[in-house]
Amino acid sequence: MKNIYQQLYKSSPRSLANLLISFYNVRQYRIRHGGAYQAFRKYFEETEKLSREEAEQEQLKRLRSFLRYTYEHSKYYHEKWRELHLSFDHLGWEEFNLLPFITKEELQRNLRDICTINPRTAIKFQTGGTTGVSLQAYYTPRNIQERFAMVDHFRSRFGFDFGEKTAWFTGKDLLNKGDVAKHRYWRTDFRNNIRFYSTYHLQQKNFIYYIDNFNKYQPKYFSGATSSLSEIARGGLKAGIKLNYRPEAVFPTAEMLMKQDRKAMETFYGCGVYDQYASSEGAPFITQCKKAHMHMELMTGVFEVLDTSGQPADFGELVVTSFTTEGTPLVRYRIGDMVEMNTKSVDCYLKYPIVKKIHGRLSDCIYSRETGKICQGNIVNSVKNIHGIIRFQIIQNNMDGILVKIVKSKQYIREVEEKKLLKELRIRLGKKMDIQFNYVNEIPRERSGKYRIIKNNCKEEI
Ligand SMILES: [Zn+2]
Repeated sequence: MKNIYQQLYKSSPRSLANLLISFYNVRQYRIRHGGAYQAFRKYFEETEKLSREEAEQEQLKRLRSFLRYTYEHSKYYHEKWRELHLSFDHLGWEEFNLLPFITKEELQRNLRDICTINPRTAIKFQTGGTTGVSLQAYYTPRNIQERFAMVDHFRSRFGFDFGEKTAWFTGKDLLNKGDVAKHRYWRTDFRNNIRFYSTYHLQQKNFIYYIDNFNKYQPKYFSGATSSLSEIARGGLKAGIKLNYRPEAVFPTAEMLMKQDRKAMETFYGCGVYDQYASSEGAPFITQCKKAHMHMELMTGVFEVLDTSGQPADFGELVVTSFTTEGTPLVRYRIGDMVEMNTKSVDCYLKYPIVKKIHGRLSDCIYSRETGKICQGNIVNSVKNIHGIIRFQIIQNNMDGILVKIVKSKQYIREVEEKKLLKELRIRLGKKMDIQFNYVNEIPRERSGKYRIIKNNCKEEI
């Protein structure tokens, strides 16, 4: 939602705003659930029955066609691979291993040459990025349809069907002042039966209004960022506010699901919590099966787990090639997460490799005297619409202030962007927090080799 539409939306009375959100979503869902969506739903149902060997054959077939497309359409990859004289029809894993890696920074820096479609007509996704790099990814409608077919396929394992009442937590700025004054932190898309709940107002003092509304609306499914869903669960448990009905399933996305979060959610929502791994820049999927393993979905891409010397390992850095990224191809992309594979033999109807644990997407938080504990996912959202941030990190040394370190590019116009970012942080951390900005050339990696977005040195807890 942007520009005129957004302005119109912001100034509309509530009923009209609900109508506008329905209208906006009808357009969105026509793209997501149109075209090849149904065919992909079927494809995922069928391929799930394959043996491991057959699945790997199919994966290789898709890899070849994806790499050919990328070579023929992406200027950046074409130049990088030209010398390799790849034979796409017969390409095998040895040849694949010759392809160079690409990092988040390279992706961001070369986006224009990497992109294969017209950015103006493409479907855009902006990511705050869990390593603090903000990225824009461009998708073709067909790739979007395949991605949503995958998500819905995964959710259907747990009874989900699109169109049933769903509570959706969104980082979109949905509300106007009147809503906030009346403690109404949601908007409803009546056509698709989705109630969008704002993540901006997730604070202990507001949880009662959210939970009260869950009890009135009674959504069957909950979906949204892990931190949002778990913050409410913890908040509800802490204050003794309960759900008076039993939802069917909770689907956290976008952030790592920690054991404690899962436990809090299962207790509060009183139903199963089903995890998936993907990212808005378009990583292939890792999803939970009916037997509670996390499987690499081989039909969505290639997963490599590599040790520090780049050799295949059971524990190491995840490198992905994603078939649904024709618009902004990801080939051997260093996504920045660590993965631990399951090495024991496991009996499961689904033959895809099993991930024991996804490490690295840290759930660090900032503490505010006014708004309580604000988790990383919520903080990452604050840079979503800020232009020109290459990397950022927030350091908290005491309860009353934070230091925001920023590595900026030329697109970052300080007078404009700093004000925007400050506003976003104030929404989350309150009016009184002392917020300082520090522009630096580099943010050092941690000993683990990863960047941390939040470094909280604050011993005091609320
Ligand atoms: Zn399984």
